[in-house]
Amino acid sequence: MAEKDNSLMSQNFIHDFIDEDIAEGGRYAGMEVHTRFPPEPNGYLHIGHAKAIYVDFGTAQKYHGLCNLRMDDTNPTKEDVEFVDAIQEDIHWLGYDWDDRFYYASDYFEQMYQFAEELILAGKAYVCQLSPEEMSANRGDVNTPATSPYRNRPIEESLDLFRRMRAGEFPDGAMTLRAKIDLASGNFNLRDPAIYRIKHQRHHRTGDQWCIYPMYDYAHPIEDALEGITHSLCTLEFEDHRPLYDWVIDNISCPNKPRQIEFARLGIDHTVMSKRKLRALVEGGFVSGWDDPRMPTICGLRRRGYTPAAIRAFSEANGVSKAASTVEFSFLEHCLREDLDKSARRVMAVLRPVALTITNYPEGQSESFSIENHPKDPSMGSRTVTFSRHLYIEAEDFMEEPVKKYKRLSPNGLECRLKGAYVIRCTGCVKDEAGNVVEVLAEYDPDSRGGDPADGRKIKGAAIHWVDAATAADAEVRLYDDLFSDAAPDAAGKDFLACLNPGSLEVLRGCKLEASLAETQAPASFQFMRLGYFCVDNKDSKPGAPVFNRSVSLKDSFKK
Ligand code: ATP
Ligand code: MG
Repeated sequence: MAEKDNSLMSQNFIHDFIDEDIAEGGRYAGMEVHTRFPPEPNGYLHIGHAKAIYVDFGTAQKYHGLCNLRMDDTNPTKEDVEFVDAIQEDIHWLGYDWDDRFYYASDYFEQMYQFAEELILAGKAYVCQLSPEEMSANRGDVNTPATSPYRNRPIEESLDLFRRMRAGEFPDGAMTLRAKIDLASGNFNLRDPAIYRIKHQRHHRTGDQWCIYPMYDYAHPIEDALEGITHSLCTLEFEDHRPLYDWVIDNISCPNKPRQIEFARLGIDHTVMSKRKLRALVEGGFVSGWDDPRMPTICGLRRRGYTPAAIRAFSEANGVSKAASTVEFSFLEHCLREDLDKSARRVMAVLRPVALTITNYPEGQSESFSIENHPKDPSMGSRTVTFSRHLYIEAEDFMEEPVKKYKRLSPNGLECRLKGAYVIRCTGCVKDEAGNVVEVLAEYDPDSRGGDPADGRKIKGAAIHWVDAATAADAEVRLYDDLFSDAAPDAAGKDFLACLNPGSLEVLRGCKLEASLAETQAPASFQFMRLGYFCVDNKDSKPGAPVFNRSVSLKDSFKK
């Protein structure tokens, strides 16, 4: 067997268990590590799933093993091919692949049924006719065992009823098949749990073939066993279900015995991660769709400008443990910033423009500057930016009556650099009838081409970004803030919709971009100098009318 590769994913407690299992004398001595990622196709994947994908696929890669992709579609409600396709697209985008091992849990319905008959014949399962209400009334408590008057019915009777359940003779809820384990167990999951229920409902793949469906706790271990999974990695809420998982594995005639290991879920502040809530946001029109750039979904993050490398780095940095934790959204942003800092071209864009006229620059004249695309990476080359008498600057880079310590443009104030071009000094402004500044006036120093004055004098003002009005492209730019103003909208008992941040989306129109950005295709990411990282929105951009999303601001609010 190949050596494990620690460069891919750092060692965690799951790997310690696996090391023991595959070492000589371990339960999987000499075997390949085989994991699976089992999403339920009832929604789009989110950043929490990205952690599970990282753990499942990443662990398999580390051990040069295999990871299957399995649609966990045993529940016949709310499943959709739209979700199945999107899940595959998102996992591929994150950089993982399952080769030809793509499965549906529903493909195993017949085998699950046969195993259930096997359990009945072995006296390990029985048909119970308690209604769901009676069943919970008979659950007992810590001191009192559960009861069922049907527990000791003859095997033949259970078998006959179970076959008739399958044949559709009984209505929903009339009876269940229960595993015969231990009605007095301190673990309530073992108090003869139902493993099949009647549900006269169409399934998106098996149609009307079935009217009984296996329960998750019964189905999942069988799916794992049939696929030859060695390690079934899942989240902590299944820890109390592991004895049932093991019971199923030990009592069916499948030779493969997978091992379940649980790890803590990922939580992030200022967002929700349950698919039910994400769906409510989409269906209620609170966001534009599953891929709204404010959503914590993989497709939303992708549209926001997140990179697979940033998401993988985030998962790696968070680590894998049994301790539940909520990570700050600002840490996710930090990971993106680190990645884009290396790869994003620096360009100039003005989001809230005001005209700047260089009054001593001749009308009709123009010149070009070559500006490097990345200050630290010459291999990213340079581009040409034009300059003329009429420019745009950010409205906030001018103040008629400057506040203390203001380092930008104000009449007869500090000299400022126009990034990569010339030194200018503001001489005044033009206002409209309402008193709004509509034009800033300045003079340039012709002996400062490139930004440094020939006489070497110190420039005390800021270096401000600008675009040439003659060649600028217009764009719409969307700025995003937390989707929820409350840090913990997902907390139990909270009305998460009441926690929405009304200012989570700000749309700016009439923004001015340097000409090199006019025909950019997604998924290009840029640093708009002084403003943040932005990407092209490939859904809403039209030829000649680009839309940009702010992926993340420049300022890092994450405290290490
Ligand atoms: P929801 O309750 O929102 O529907 P789920 O856990 O039921 O989510 P599944 O599609 O069943 O969603 O999840 C597939 C896999 O992803 C499971 O193994 C699950 O444990 C894992 N997973 C889901 N959410 C998280 C999370 N926040 N952190 C880590 N793993 C997660
Ligand atoms: Mg689930």
